[in-house]
Amino acid sequence: MTSGEYPSPVMSDLDALAREYGNRFLLEPAPDHRLPRHGMRAVDAMRLLGEELLLDGLPMRNLATFVTTWMEPEAQRVVAENLHRNYIDHAEYPRTAEIEQRCIRMLADLFHAPGETTGTRTQGSSEAIMLGALSLKWKWRARREAAGKDTTRPNLVFGGDVHVVWEKFCRYFEVEPRIIALQPDKYVIGPADVEPHVDENTIGVAAVLGTTFTGHADDIAGINDLLVRLNEERGLDVPIHVDAASGGFVWPFLYPDSEWDFRLSRVRSINVSGHKFGLVYPGIGWLIFRERGDLPDDLVFYENYLGKRDATFTLNFSTGSSMVLAQYYNFVRFGHEGYRYIMETMQANARHLAERIAAIGDFRIIGSEKEEQLPLVAFQLAGDHNYDEFDVASQLAAERGWMVPAYTLPPKADHIKIMRALVKLTLGHSMVETLADDIAAACQVLAEKGTLHPHDRSRVKTGTGY
Ligand SMILES: *Cc1c(COP(=O)(O)O)cnc(C)c1O
Repeated sequence: MTSGEYPSPVMSDLDALAREYGNRFLLEPAPDHRLPRHGMRAVDAMRLLGEELLLDGLPMRNLATFVTTWMEPEAQRVVAENLHRNYIDHAEYPRTAEIEQRCIRMLADLFHAPGETTGTRTQGSSEAIMLGALSLKWKWRARREAAGKDTTRPNLVFGGDVHVVWEKFCRYFEVEPRIIALQPDKYVIGPADVEPHVDENTIGVAAVLGTTFTGHADDIAGINDLLVRLNEERGLDVPIHVDAASGGFVWPFLYPDSEWDFRLSRVRSINVSGHKFGLVYPGIGWLIFRERGDLPDDLVFYENYLGKRDATFTLNFSTGSSMVLAQYYNFVRFGHEGYRYIMETMQANARHLAERIAAIGDFRIIGSEKEEQLPLVAFQLAGDHNYDEFDVASQLAAERGWMVPAYTLPPKADHIKIMRALVKLTLGHSMVETLADDIAAACQVLAEKGTLHPHDRSRVKTGTGY
């Protein structure tokens, strides 16, 4: 025995046998509430973890998540080879910092920023939204102070179709949320919904491009027109932040003529998740400002860190570089054409899945092909059934491990149940066929045996925003 490799003071017969034929952990509970006294061989630790994770769902069968579950081997190599590179060490890793800036410039261009701009990488859209919304609050306060007006009652206007992060922002940073309730047949918001909520204390309107609920977009152009008019008529200066967590990498390629971005004058900042349709593994988001001036200077921290003056305005500090580099990898690997091809492929498969689900006869598809939408299928049961959407989700998971979530919509549409399947690059034509067959089979089984758990919904995962 070499010292340190297996530091148990006495090697029992069992230890010796385990070393020869197996793993000690197979006979013991996994360490779970304090550091184990002795370690184990590297290969054993790896196997212990592997066995635990086997019980997790298979990420590629996870049709609930918007987040990337597959990258090609060359991208995986970029990720693996840069895991030790701390992103924040700009002085030590100036090329990594430059690559971040290239990504920001490319995104600003994709979103039609009129001139020189600024932005940052973040851990995801949630961090980007916190920073974008903080900027709105700071800018509003500066305007109010300059006019000698009260700054104690800021509010933010958004629809019930937003991600939970917007309410989080309001609570963490003390802003009154003005939430527009959804309606039983309308799951996005437009100018008429927004208008009654806007006043001189409104720091901004948050509009969604690609909701987590049905994949549709708020009427951002309409809201922009409204805010332009309110500015002219009442002198209200209300900007828009677009939450393009999912849509920011879909709309530019599938709907290039649709104006939702900096082509609209009131849109001052946009967030997008690199780890959603940017096609990078989890851990990367982006915040892009329309102009440098949209980032309030007192949110930026300048410091002399490890010998170089550095400007930061993020909530996190140390973090990996791999996902920034992987984002740039995707940009140069796919280019505009490649992203368009990939989005069109997913859209075509989503449409095929929608047709197949509609053909089963038990479901209604939410939205039509004419509406701009993320590549997904949102659907619900139509007509009378002795089971519901949650049962279908359970049955699908039980039969073949598909993770297709069922959930209810936000107030006042919260009696409406929906199912949703993301159609990503790993869900090709034949997988779509299999999934549709499995949904039909699940309905048949359920029609025979009825609802699975009339009172207990807790076993079905119902989250939608990830
Ligand atoms: C996913 C999502 C978020 C949160 O993004 P993360 O990147 O997971 O932090 C916010 N808004 C919308 C619309 C989303 O789809």
